[in-house]
Amino acid sequence: MPQVVVIGGGAAGFFAAIRAAELGAQVLLLEKTGKTLAKVRISGGGRCNLTHNCADPATLATHYPRGGAELLPAFARFGQPETLAWFAARGVRAVAEADGRMFPHTNQAETVATCLEQAARQAGVSLRLSTGVSALEPRPGGGYTVQTTAGPLEADRVIVATGGAPKAEGMAWLARLGLEVVPPVPSLFTFNLPGSGPLQALAGVSVPAGEVALPQLKDARRGPLLVTHWGLSGPGVLRLSAWQARALAEAGYQTPVLVNWLGQKPASVLKMLKTLREANPKKRLANLPVPGLPRRLQDYTLQASQLPETLTTSEAGNRHLEQWAQALCQDKHLLQGKTTYKDEFVTAGGIALHQVDFATMEARSLPGLHLCGEVLDVDAITGGFNFQAAWTTGWLAGTAAAQV
Ligand SMILES: Cc1cc2nc3c(=O)[nH]c(=O)nc-3n(C[C@H](O)[C@H](O)[C@H](O)COP(=O)(O)OP(=O)(O)OC[C@H]3O[C@@H](n4cnc5c(N)ncnc54)[C@H](O)[C@@H]3O)c2cc1C
Repeated sequence: MPQVVVIGGGAAGFFAAIRAAELGAQVLLLEKTGKTLAKVRISGGGRCNLTHNCADPATLATHYPRGGAELLPAFARFGQPETLAWFAARGVRAVAEADGRMFPHTNQAETVATCLEQAARQAGVSLRLSTGVSALEPRPGGGYTVQTTAGPLEADRVIVATGGAPKAEGMAWLARLGLEVVPPVPSLFTFNLPGSGPLQALAGVSVPAGEVALPQLKDARRGPLLVTHWGLSGPGVLRLSAWQARALAEAGYQTPVLVNWLGQKPASVLKMLKTLREANPKKRLANLPVPGLPRRLQDYTLQASQLPETLTTSEAGNRHLEQWAQALCQDKHLLQGKTTYKDEFVTAGGIALHQVDFATMEARSLPGLHLCGEVLDVDAITGGFNFQAAWTTGWLAGTAAAQV
């Protein structure tokens, strides 16, 4: 049976190590820090959003700004249903919330970490903490010499699961093997809108179904939006930050932003405002019951459309309503910087995907070297998709590395 060295004791590394060991390989897991599964333990606000309530591989793959196409066949082999079954077989039941996020039945990230540690022990995985890897040297007859802080090790197969690196230098040891590294940029961040004073006065206000657009980058994403002290957050913004992570980095995080507070087309909003006007004679526009629009945002959009505060439905002509619909659907701001979203942040970038065979997670140019998890140029929007990519690619890497 092959001797497999797994580098990195995170979600992907553990999954790969357990799988390879369960198939009979001799597995040594190396972790550079003094503890394993650090991100799992703090993930999802301490609850670990371990996957998403989405069984269909094709639908699941649409949540990955980078890596969706490559992951699609991988999900067909070990996707969300297989992940749920894997954890259930080891005593962790995943429970879905209304928005599709899935958490362990205990609501504790520790449950997931303990499960992985137990499974690794039972499978016979050897673990070495405080052992960082600085280089890999292919051996002439196959396999690798693994240079670690505790001296060199020999391996028939190596699985690299070292996670994302905020700077390209963090992956220099992989680039030295001839692997192409797509430079890392942050993904999943919130928007700073320092010039939007009147909006920031509404910090804490949210809408359930808005849309945020970056007209110069020709992209718009839907979802809940939250006004913060520094700008705009919420799933809609995080989605857009992920899909445009690279373009936004190139633009220096400076570009116009358009907010549609109701997430509907201006013509539909105008029609709805006209209906409300007919149904509510002599009522102030500020008091109209606009569905999905918090009162403070109603006042703000009326001010933005420069309509008198006291304007009533009987005084409001179509032109007034058009102005208001415009302010509701095309509220203009200027993005000037970003803020890290502390609950879940990931790096876009990593090992270029064309160099990896997603059936085995093996580097095409380096036989016996497998890569999995966030070290790859794979990342997703929030919702449990990032861990799903780690489980899927970890399982495939472990399966292939254990073959004789
Ligand atoms: C605060 C936070 C919350 C999150 N919450 C969620 C969530 O709820 N749901 C979700 O889907 N995603 C979440 N994510 C993203 C998710 O945690 C990552 O996508 C996932 O952990 C990636 O797993 P990984 O094993 O590839 O990398 P990591 O978890 O980063 O593990 C890599 C490991 O390798 C070790 N390592 C690195 N270099 C070396 C080396 N040279 N030698 C030896 N060891 C090395 C590191 O110390 C680390 O332990 C969250 C991220 C953060 C930061």
